Amino acid sequence: MQTTLADFIKDTAEGREAEGILRNCVHCGFCNATCPTYQLLGDELDGPRGRIYLIKQALEGRPVSQSTQLHLDRCLTCRACETTCPSGVHYSRLLDIGRHVVASRVQRSPADAVSRVALRKVITRPGLFGPLLKLGQLMRPLLPAKLRRKVPTSADAPKAAPRAAHARRMLVLEGCVQPALSPATNAAAARVLDRMGISLAAAPAAGCCGAVSLHLDAQAEAHDFMRRNIDAWWPHIRDGVEAIVITASGCGVTVRDYGYQLAGDPAYAEKAKRVSDLAKDVSEIVLAERDRWQALAFPPSSLHSPLRRVAFHAPCTLQHGLKLKGDIELLLSSLGFEVVPVRDAHLCCGSAGTYSVLQPAISQRLLENKLAALTEHDPQEIVTANIGCQMHLQSGTPHRVRHWIELLDDHLSGAAERPVEEPKEERLRRGT
Ligand code: SF4
Ligand code: SF4
Repeated sequence: MQTTLADFIKDTAEGREAEGILRNCVHCGFCNATCPTYQLLGDELDGPRGRIYLIKQALEGRPVSQSTQLHLDRCLTCRACETTCPSGVHYSRLLDIGRHVVASRVQRSPADAVSRVALRKVITRPGLFGPLLKLGQLMRPLLPAKLRRKVPTSADAPKAAPRAAHARRMLVLEGCVQPALSPATNAAAARVLDRMGISLAAAPAAGCCGAVSLHLDAQAEAHDFMRRNIDAWWPHIRDGVEAIVITASGCGVTVRDYGYQLAGDPAYAEKAKRVSDLAKDVSEIVLAERDRWQALAFPPSSLHSPLRRVAFHAPCTLQHGLKLKGDIELLLSSLGFEVVPVRDAHLCCGSAGTYSVLQPAISQRLLENKLAALTEHDPQEIVTANIGCQMHLQSGTPHRVRHWIELLDDHLSGAAERPVEEPKEERLRRGT
């Protein structure tokens, strides 16, 4: 796409990057076919091709308005369009640049501006979010039905942490909202990895990955969170941890991007790149240990509970962001679960970070469509891989929704009581 960038941006790093991305777009429109907002609203400007055009106009210095901002705000940043695009257009990067430019030229309404700041300040601070959640849960019975659905009931208690200290060590990201909303998730990850001879530990000084601030156009705040996490992790990285394990794919895709985000910061660029290289979704760790699974020999008949029929919701950040598509479904199937087919699995559930709060009408329609697809084949429960999707789906269904690693941990509990021989290389490492 031919572009003539305006003076204010053409000689900047953002301008050069945007120009390169725009040049790749041939305007074919294939991406519209998989865009959830285009499918729902049917407006060219609510699809990726139209949004690319709006961003191009903004970068060329043409007038932008609240309407421009609305069409960009309605984008879920689900990245389904990137998966579909035959030309490899990096739409999400262009969107970040476009949103930033439009935000500098269009003033938001006071209500919109306040809700964005409030979301950033509350969600990213576990010390504030946790008590507010507890208060909401206490008040839950008194809330109107619509609001009540949005306040999750008390979370499942985490199971006992593993006691063994293995030679193989990995860090886990606790994040901002997950410890309060689903403390059982990271506890289950620690128990599953323990069975594979890996110890999982958190760095208490780490916190929010920065995704919320980044998506609400508070880039400097997001970068501060990233630097804080790098400082918290660095002593452990120097000490030889193998990976930074992330159980929320929304956070995973952000931590994987630290190298890009901090590339312009001479004090952190190299460390950030190292952190990106070490960041792994928990499914990548479990799948990389396939041999270990075989050594542990968990045939389906040894699973503790009866086999379950489950529906897996693949978060956009997992399938379009991290490009991990189909792996978890295969893993669960190979362990004996019946994983039901899910229609339109590439489409977003409408959670999308803070989208469900800021664009409730579109988010609700996407949620209803997604739940209809997930429950079509009568699963006993729904599993997913991202806390935002988990809570959003749970708000609309009586089916249990949880992280797949908890399901796996539950079903291995019986088998794990059998003595399991420690792998030979681990014994050698320990010198026993
Ligand atoms: S982003 Fe890709 S799929 Fe969409 S119009 Fe451009 S080239 Fe075509
Ligand atoms: S990121 Fe998702 S919602 Fe946004 S344009 Fe692409 S497909 Fe549509």
